[in-house]
Amino acid sequence: MKVKKRIHLSAGIMLISFIGIVIIQYYWINRAYNSSKVSFNYQVTGAMLDVVRTLEHDEIDEKYKEFHDPQDKNLRPPMRIRIDEYNYSHDQLNTNDNYYKQKSDIAEEIIFDIYNDRNKLIEERIDPIKLDSLISNNLIRRNIKTYCKYAIYHPARDTMIYKNFDGDEKFFFNNASSFKLFPRDKVEYPSYLLVHFPNEEKYIINKNILVFLISVILLVCIIVSYVMIVKKLEYLKMLYDFENEFINNITHEFKTPIATIAIASELLSDPDIIKNQKFFEQHIKTIRDENRRLKEMSEKILTTARISKGILTLQKELVDIHDIIVDLTEKVKVRTEIKDGKIILNLQATDYKIYADRFHICNVISNLLDNAEKYSPKSPLIEISTSSSNNLLQIDVRDNGIGIEKSEFKNIFQRMYRIPAGDVHNFKGYGLGLSYVKSIVDAHKGVIEINSEINVGSTFTVKLPINLE
Ligand code: ADP
Repeated sequence: MKVKKRIHLSAGIMLISFIGIVIIQYYWINRAYNSSKVSFNYQVTGAMLDVVRTLEHDEIDEKYKEFHDPQDKNLRPPMRIRIDEYNYSHDQLNTNDNYYKQKSDIAEEIIFDIYNDRNKLIEERIDPIKLDSLISNNLIRRNIKTYCKYAIYHPARDTMIYKNFDGDEKFFFNNASSFKLFPRDKVEYPSYLLVHFPNEEKYIINKNILVFLISVILLVCIIVSYVMIVKKLEYLKMLYDFENEFINNITHEFKTPIATIAIASELLSDPDIIKNQKFFEQHIKTIRDENRRLKEMSEKILTTARISKGILTLQKELVDIHDIIVDLTEKVKVRTEIKDGKIILNLQATDYKIYADRFHICNVISNLLDNAEKYSPKSPLIEISTSSSNNLLQIDVRDNGIGIEKSEFKNIFQRMYRIPAGDVHNFKGYGLGLSYVKSIVDAHKGVIEINSEINVGSTFTVKLPINLE
């Protein structure tokens, strides 16, 4: 109970910490994504404000150049000014000079012109090629390398001009960011530069892909390790339960023959009982049988312990597998026939002699046959077949018993594992047989496979190499 509680407690603490790590990890991913988004928007805003500012500056600049055309001699008074400069002091020059008068006239005209420009159509004020190159240059300057949809929108006319895309205008309009063009114009309906980045999400994710990938890999690792640890804990818990059950069963199994031997030997040595030949034979047979049972059981337990410690040594010799099968079938035959069933032999192997440990290989086949009989409660039909090819000897033990769920296939080969029985069936055992079978087959460099369907039956297939040295 204490162990179980501790296992539950560890699983609980681990679950809480894993959930905590997952939440924190999610929080950091989210945070990284949001801050990238903020930085993206910040760069876009900066780039577009630069576009707007350049457009406005360039317009003024052009106006100024128009008035200050170097070809126009009338607007170039420098020679005269220079002569005047010799004649007047600086103070006079600052206040009365013709040059300044002329300059301020030009400036006034420019300003007036610019002032009037605000009523011009936006198409007349902005060149589409220039707009396009301004937008792309400013985006590149700010390291934004994703497709940008843009258009100029005039609210009063409700039209979009200089669009660089085809398709859904409404979606674009609803999702675009807007920047006022010529912001210093005092007009009722200014025009707007609208921009939208259709691949924004993907672009931000791609930019952070390494962080996202590492985080996702870490999250997956955490989840996988949690599942593995919990599975291992469950297995430990099950092992603990089985160990208790196993000790109870085994004690009981040992007690019965010990008690029987004790009674039989007491009867034999009791001077008050008149003994005849038959009496002797009967009780000596009982003692011998029970003694053999004890030996078999202790041998099984010892072998399993040796296997788990890795100190099992095989005594290999040339073994006739068909001989062994025929011999063992005889023993199971009686039990099968009592249940109104039968055993069929289908020994087709041409190479049926292999180098193997006779004792353990006998036990392997015997365990598979015993299970086939044990787990077939009604009229067992057991078939043992052999075949040989590609230097392999194959032994199939097929039954028409209760069958095994696919999900249990790998569990049944674990030590002390027993499929939790429902209410209907109650089969005796310790869960040692198949783990022992697998270890012996592995030690012979063979493989064991299983094929089974619930309520249809099971087939255990053992493949052993023939040319074993
Ligand atoms: P045991 O039979 O002592 O419980 P095994 O290691 O031989 O232990 O088998 C492990 C489990 O595999 C059994 O508890 C049983 O549920 C299942 N099993 C083994 N052989 C068969 C079979 N032929 N048909 C159905 N179930 C089987």
